[in-house]
Amino acid sequence: MSARNILVINCGSSSIKFALVNEAQSTFPLQGLAERLGSPEAVLHWQLGDTKQSLDIPGADHRAALEKLLPLAQDAAGGKLDGIGHRVVHGGEHFTGSSLINEQVLQAIRDSAQLAPLHNPANLVGIDAAIALFPGLPQVSVFDTAFHQSMPEHAFRYAVPEFLYKEHSVRRYGFHGTSHSYVSKRAAEMTGLPVDDSSWLTAHLGNGCSTCAIVNGESRDTSMGLTPLEGLVMGTRSGDVDPNLHSYLNRTLGWSLEQIDRMLNHDSGLKGLSGLSNDLRTLQEARAAGHAGANLAFEVFCYRLAKSLASMACALPKLDGLIFTGGIGENSTAVRTRTLEHLKLFNFKLDEEANARCTRGVGGEIQAPGSPRVLVVPTNEERQIALDTLALLDA
Ligand code: ADP
Repeated sequence: MSARNILVINCGSSSIKFALVNEAQSTFPLQGLAERLGSPEAVLHWQLGDTKQSLDIPGADHRAALEKLLPLAQDAAGGKLDGIGHRVVHGGEHFTGSSLINEQVLQAIRDSAQLAPLHNPANLVGIDAAIALFPGLPQVSVFDTAFHQSMPEHAFRYAVPEFLYKEHSVRRYGFHGTSHSYVSKRAAEMTGLPVDDSSWLTAHLGNGCSTCAIVNGESRDTSMGLTPLEGLVMGTRSGDVDPNLHSYLNRTLGWSLEQIDRMLNHDSGLKGLSGLSNDLRTLQEARAAGHAGANLAFEVFCYRLAKSLASMACALPKLDGLIFTGGIGENSTAVRTRTLEHLKLFNFKLDEEANARCTRGVGGEIQAPGSPRVLVVPTNEERQIALDTLALLDA
């Protein structure tokens, strides 16, 4: 059988990220991004091998952009596309793993849309368009939440009245499951430990950030909750605040729920603390130049991350290693160093040279002798989505 090709599609509210994954190749034959969809500036960027190209698609919506990019993928796959893997943000309690898409699955994704009103509808548009354009091709949905369905009830319940869980689905779900799952399996490979007898702490640090406790290949706790706002300080998201902040801001400033939501999701985190940027690279430069806000944002980010990792350790029977991933986790030697300085009780120590070497896609172990393992593992959500899709095609 020749190596199969899976197109991976990730539809956001105004963007589509895509990658063609060939099961025998470590790099993607085609990858790209359609952005600013629904606006006059809509544009499609793609890279085919080493060649980068762009096409203005003014006014294009998700469907119009997919109509342009699906044939590109079909060509890049030599006319032989074997399936499409769709990233879907919220699967509620319906999905404990990835699923071949059928009418029942589509309905369950629609039913979960209330829990992710910005994301699931965009994911559904992508799925509908792909089915319309390639009706004969198997399509698979891979959920950010599914990996965390193994959390025990004491980790996923909020201490609020039971009917809110039973009748209104109010519980902790967790996100970034594809990434946490992928990097923990890679870490087991890299260290020669069996997945089904291993315990990891993972920190996925991108624009969104979350931690996870993984035992024998299963999520036992994670920092995100009902929505991706809970937990760590992120690029523009606040992470944990006192839940009474809502009523306080409403009483004192007269803010509406929408204003408070926007502030917590879009104007907070690194951006809110620094008053400068949500991008850690910008903050690291500003910090070096003495910018007080950038320094504060960095310090709060690292301290809160360390606190979250320490609390996740409650879910582990032993610790085989701490894994850093995501744009910040894979690249910021300073975040790794500062975070571990707050975890002295765990006896973490870094090998400075190894820490400096592991950036820009280079992974490896970075602890000093005598310290528990610390690993940098580049994440690859596209490959994990393609692997899940292939596994369902084989089933
Ligand atoms: P997303 O969650 O959107 O996929 P990424 O995983 O790409 O985001 O992470 C984006 C974050 O990674 C940004 O804060 C960016 O500044 C940070 N980042 C990327 N490269 C570096 C680097 N070399 N040093 C420090 N931070 C970096």
